[in-house]
Formats: sequence, structure tokens, C-alpha cells
Amino acid sequence: MKSTMQDAQLTIGSVMKHGTTVHGDSEVVTATADGTRTLSYADLGRRASRLAHGLRSVGITGDQRVATFMWNNAEHLEAYLAIPSMGAVLHTLNIRLFPEQLVYIANHAEDRVVIVDDSLVPLFAQELPQLTSVTHVLVSGPDAAAADLDALRASGKEVLLYEDLLADQPEEFDWPEVDERDAAAMCYTSGTTGNPKGVVYGHRSAWLHSLAVSTGNAAGLDFHDRVLPIVPMFHANAWGLAYAAVMTGASLCMPDRWLQAEPLVRFIQASRPTVSGAVPTVWNDVLAFLDGHDGVRLDSLRLILCGGSAVPVSLQRGLQERHGLYIRQAWGMTETSPVASAGLVPIGIEGEAEWSYRASQGRLLCGVEGRIVGDEGTPLPWDGESVGELEVRGPWVTGGYYNPGDTLSEDADEKFHDGWLRTGDVGTLDPLGYIRLSDRAKDVIKSGGEWISSVDLENALMGHPDVVEAAVVGIPDEKWQERPLATVVLREGATTTPEDLRTYLGRSFAKWQLPDAWAFTDQVPRTSVGKFDKKVVRRGFAEGQYDVHRVGG
Ligand code: ADP
Repeated sequence: MKSTMQDAQLTIGSVMKHGTTVHGDSEVVTATADGTRTLSYADLGRRASRLAHGLRSVGITGDQRVATFMWNNAEHLEAYLAIPSMGAVLHTLNIRLFPEQLVYIANHAEDRVVIVDDSLVPLFAQELPQLTSVTHVLVSGPDAAAADLDALRASGKEVLLYEDLLADQPEEFDWPEVDERDAAAMCYTSGTTGNPKGVVYGHRSAWLHSLAVSTGNAAGLDFHDRVLPIVPMFHANAWGLAYAAVMTGASLCMPDRWLQAEPLVRFIQASRPTVSGAVPTVWNDVLAFLDGHDGVRLDSLRLILCGGSAVPVSLQRGLQERHGLYIRQAWGMTETSPVASAGLVPIGIEGEAEWSYRASQGRLLCGVEGRIVGDEGTPLPWDGESVGELEVRGPWVTGGYYNPGDTLSEDADEKFHDGWLRTGDVGTLDPLGYIRLSDRAKDVIKSGGEWISSVDLENALMGHPDVVEAAVVGIPDEKWQERPLATVVLREGATTTPEDLRTYLGRSFAKWQLPDAWAFTDQVPRTSVGKFDKKVVRRGFAEGQYDVHRVGG
């Protein structure tokens, strides 16, 4: 028996229509050099229509890719809504990629039009001549007219001001019927090995993911909320926060390019978000700023979503106990849209037990199935103890990569197993569906046949009052194959020694797990999306860049 329900399509167009009419009174606030600028969702809808007309006029008539090279701002949100809703595909380019990767990605996706923020014109102009499929560049932002357009025009491409293109367009657009299974947006993984791989999100997958992000188990959004995505809109669609906000009518606060702790704190005070999301390094910087500035309070924030890498308990406790800010850890990947689990703790769990759950990667969301798989490829029990690779599947988990045949990335096929995505993350699942990751498979340290969790060591080290950042990697060892090297950033003026830190760790780790190689450094290297870059740490060690102290061993 079939249901009697109507078969309405789950599309970005339906999210846009709802958000910009029913919630026309909500707003998107964007940070500027000296304050903020504001647009109502009703105006956002009108501007999305004008953008769609403008894009038709420069040849976007089907599922061509329209790329963005932008910070988080109102224009980027217009692109997020208009491009998929007109049947084209939004491709968010990571502005911090190495030039050759960016060129590879834009050519692989066959980007036709690129929207570029005025402040990013000098950077983009260097890459543009090599972007073979691009015909038009649209320069957006309040200072677009003053940007060096000639530098872009030197590439021979058509260059237009975004506002000029929108200026005389109608405020209504005849949005086409789009199949919910068609492509809405694409995003490339950062390509730690080989070339980056393209993940293509569908309308339906984005719709369902946004709904899941909006639920109380994740961000719990409603139209009284104001959402601040600090996570870039080019990093896995800002974790779905932009679409989830428009879906629920929550207002958006966009930080544009002001992402350092001090301007961020000022923007939070001015725009008063209730929910925000960013990787741990951002909150670590914010915590250091708040600790150093008595009386500065971020009292509008009720929830910080944090993920992308493990969120140290010391960071969560510091923000909560000293500044009244509540962090919830979430886990996901570009391949999982990205949010797949979030760390609301079980009922009745309090005190120290609460922190054990808050340290976890969270509980699987409905829509994402998970399992832990052992070395032989067989599923292991959900007992919180059996360690293996996490595999996931579900309607917002990718089942493959975009044109993988073209990529040089040799491991594209190995990423899937009987219809499950192999995450490359190693850890456990407990009987309540909480994930606890001990490492990424490629970061695992194997010493004398035993695993040492770099994540556990880092979390513990960052709990030491003198440690600002710590990254632990495996380095070759003749006797044990691998031993842990701890690279540590100390607080200014701290005199803590490697011996002190080893003694401190000795309280919670077995002796054979303790790092016996230590290096103090100014900053742990970061990836293009702000995570600790252990690949660079390992290379730095191999090239002798660290002054390594040997202790114990
Ligand atoms: P990349 O880090 O490769 O640029 P992604 O942003 O897709 O690309 O990263 C996904 C990976 O980030 C996951 O596979 C996992 O290793 C890591 N990750 C994400 N969230 C968490 C978390 N809460 N704890 C630990 N690791 C996380």
C-alpha cells in the first residue's frame, strides 16, 4: 500500500522560499571594517532572484557550476540560495588552498562563473589565468568598485561588478522545478594524499541534513536564534548552519574576513548570536582572549558547536567554567555533509561522567548509521571498547566522488566498503551510539605493536595550565618502530620543561605511552580550515626543523 501523501520535492528552492517569505523579518548581519551591515530575509529573497537573472544573462542556463571565492557574508548567502534554486551547482572554493590545488579543483569541477569578494581579488587574480573553464568573474562586496579589476581582466575573462549585474534585474524569478536528487552544491576534500576529491551534495541530502542540524540533538534552532557560522562557507557548507538557519528562520551573523579573536569577540558583542560554530583552534584563541580581558562577556551565546578535530575537555571546561559558554562537540566530514553526530549528554549524567561524554565525538543523529569495523572488515560490538575503523552510511553520506576517474587520488575506491563510507577514523561506539575516536588512521602511533592515541595525549597536554597548543605525532624508532613526539606551544613566560610535562602526563598514562621526544614551538601548523596539520609536523621533524629534547624513553 502506498501512502496518500503528496510527493513534494525537498529542494533548496523550497528552503529559500520558506525562509525569505514566512521569515522575511529575520536578518543577515555582516561584519564590516567599522561595524555591521544588515539585510532582511525578505530582501535576501529579492536579491537571490536578481542574482539568478544575472547569472542567466551570463550563460548559466543548466547545471553549470558557479563557484564562490568568498568569506562568510550576505552575498555568499545569496549565492547559496540562488545558484542551486535556479538548477545550477554551487561550488564553494577554499580560499586558503595552495594555488595548484585550487586550479586543479576549479578545472576539475569545470567552474563557469566565479563570484569573488573584493578583498580577495589580488589573491584570485593570480590563479584566474589558469582556470580554463571560467568565462565570467563577478566581484562582490562593499568595495568592489575600488578593487583591482584590471588584474582580473588581464586573464582575458569577462569581469563584472556583482552589484552592476544585479542592479536592473527583476525581483521575482521563475524558479524551475528541480529534482530533489539533482546536484545542489559541491565541495572538495582537502586532499591529504593525491588530489582533492569532489563531493556533490543533492537538494534532498542538503534538506535532510539541514533538518538534522536544526534538531535539538544538534543545534536546536528556532527563529528566535541568531546563528554565527565562523566555520567558513567553503568548509563543508559551514556545517549546514546557513541552510539550517534559513530553514528555521533563525537570523545569521556573518563575520566576513574578521576572524581573529579580538574582532570576533567585538562582532559577537555587536550582533548578539545565540549559536555559533567553529573548529577548536578558533575557540582556543577566543578563550585566551577572554582570559586576558577581565569583564568581557559573550552572554548572548547559548551554544557553541565545535568539531573538525577533537575538542579538548580543557577548552570546553575553560569556556564553561570561566566564561559561562557551553560547547557541544560534533563529528563529521566533507563526505557526510558534514554533521553526523553531536554530543548532547545522556539524561542523568552529571559531574565528571558528563565530561567523559563531552569528550566524545557525540551520539549518531537519526539519518546516519554507524559501525566499527575490525582489521578483517567485520563489524565489532558497540561496547565502548572494541577499537576499529568507523564506517557510516545514510542519505547525507556520499556514495562516491565526482568523476573520480579523472583524479590522481589513488585511494578514492578504497573509501567505500559494502555501501558504507570508510571514514579513516579509528575509535569505538558505545551501547548508546556515542562515538569515541582515538585517532585518524593515518595519525595512529604504533609503538612495539601497541596503539598510542595521539588525540588522548594532546587533550591531556592541553589541560596543563601552561600549554596553549599541542600536537603529538609518531616518529620512526629503531626499537619500537614508532614513538610519540609532542610538539608544544607554551603560554608566554612559562618555564615548564619537557620533564614537567612528562610527569604531568604520567598521572593518566602508562609509562610506555608517554612521549619521549619533545619540541617547543611558536605555533602548531594549521590546515586550510584551521586544524592542526600533523603532516606538516611530521615533515618538519624529518627535515630537522625542531629542536628535539629526549626525555625518559
Ligand atoms: P579534512 O580535515 O581532511 O580537511 P574534513 O573537514 O572533511 O576534511 O575532515 C573530516 C575529519 O575531521 C574526520 O574524518 C575526522 O578525522 C576529523 N574530525 C571531525 N570532527 C572531529 C571531532 N569532533 N573529533 C575528532 N576528529 C574530528
